[in-house]
Amino acid sequence: MKIKDTPKVEMVKKNCSICGKTIPVQLFPSGKYIGGNYFCKIPLCTDEEEEKSRKAGTTKERFGNYVFEVCNKDPKPYAFAEYWECDKCYSLPDTKIPS
Ligand SMILES: [Zn+2]
Repeated sequence: MKIKDTPKVEMVKKNCSICGKTIPVQLFPSGKYIGGNYFCKIPLCTDEEEEKSRKAGTTKERFGNYVFEVCNKDPKPYAFAEYWECDKCYSLPDTKIPS
């Protein structure tokens, strides 16, 4: 009986977005990972793009009983940063995503 090949695991290093510590992460082909805590991708915008968005102003839009201020123009991100937290920061009760 042939032993099944072990799936190729990729070792990557991520940085904790809170303390900056390097987090060793094992990535599996299925998209699963071990190590660290991944949240989302954060759009990175230049000050120029943010300024353009501010100048474009906002529009009031109604959703059901609520009225929201919606940007007329979203700043165009030049890149996306992955937001990771190490286990230590993740276990802290009041860690917040920095704006
Ligand atoms: Zn950390």
